[in-house]
Amino acid sequence: MTEDSEYLEHHLGSLMTTSGTDLGEITAVAPEIIKRARRRIDVDELFDAVRNGDRTRISRAITLLESTAPAHRVLAQELLVKLLPFSGNALRVGITGVPGVGKSTFIEALGMKLIEEGHKVAVLAIDPSSTKTRGSILGDKTRMSKLSAQDNAFIRPSPSAGTLGGVAKATRESMVVFEAAGYDVILVETVGVGQSEVAVAQMVDCFTFLALAGAGDQLQGIKKGVLEMADLVAINKADGPNLKNAKRAARELAAAMRMVRPEDALWHPPTMTMSAVEHEGIDEFWDVVNQHHEAMLASGRFEQNRREQQVGWMWSMVHETILQRLNTKPEVLAAKKLVESQLRDGQITPTLAAERILNAFDTE
Ligand code: GDP
Repeated sequence: MTEDSEYLEHHLGSLMTTSGTDLGEITAVAPEIIKRARRRIDVDELFDAVRNGDRTRISRAITLLESTAPAHRVLAQELLVKLLPFSGNALRVGITGVPGVGKSTFIEALGMKLIEEGHKVAVLAIDPSSTKTRGSILGDKTRMSKLSAQDNAFIRPSPSAGTLGGVAKATRESMVVFEAAGYDVILVETVGVGQSEVAVAQMVDCFTFLALAGAGDQLQGIKKGVLEMADLVAINKADGPNLKNAKRAARELAAAMRMVRPEDALWHPPTMTMSAVEHEGIDEFWDVVNQHHEAMLASGRFEQNRREQQVGWMWSMVHETILQRLNTKPEVLAAKKLVESQLRDGQITPTLAAERILNAFDTE
């Protein structure tokens, strides 16, 4: 990552910006700035290298996609447009669960199995904690050391700058790069922080939820929203003295799942147990993912989901852009201080205050 940032910085120097940039600027970047950027980043060359599976260039392409510099954004979109026709062929699987549930242990075991079967596996992460604290719950380098040493695996940590919307955008676009580079399984990992699970569920074909058996009330702390989105639930750490407990938790969760999603005739999300450390249940997990895939393909829902996701992707970018414009528009920033203090002092109502902010946003 650092190496890539240095590469871009070296080649683009003053064109780099550190702060978030208005997405809208993508259409309003001065031509000479783009021309300068183009001298240093050859989109056609990057495209060819990505298609050839060149790991260094894949990394650079993603760094370019993650960049907020206006000129980079123009080039990144050009690259994406070229890559898009070659994307879409991977099976995209989301994996969520609280820190410590065993995600990296599991992904390493699953990834190794898939590679042995001849797949090319990309692991992406969405970690909203890293955008706020610059430290992250996911994605440090020591995780999945065996998998990351494989030629046919690529582990990309969560982008560490921007809002959740920005991070999700970068991850979606990275998916295009990996697919065009021939990766046929994309695993997108996240922790259940904020809306990150929703963001992941909206970009994958199969959304899986890893859980743990708890003491006493088994379902405590499990968000109903996650169960509603899950296509598969797996209770991990079903081994040793915990096995019985895990089996019981699985039965309880299965009952909860039937209540949360009773109406879907096409797919009843199964609840299973597994042990990532003992490699138990990994094959079964992948079998279920494939069964789900086949059911979705046969019913036409697979294609339909992907099309809807494109629409969702567009809207999330529109929302993100509007929010960024709102947060950076000088008129809004000027009005904000006054309106907030008037509101705190009880001089105006929240409705009136909101109207003033929006009026400031609407000024030409
Ligand atoms: P993550 O934070 O969700 O990525 O969780 P990790 O994969 O880092 O695992 C957290 C801890 O749980 C580590 O100490 C793992 O060795 C342990 N662990 C992971 N999977 C299992 C499992 O199936 N059984 C047992 N007993 N421990 C596990």
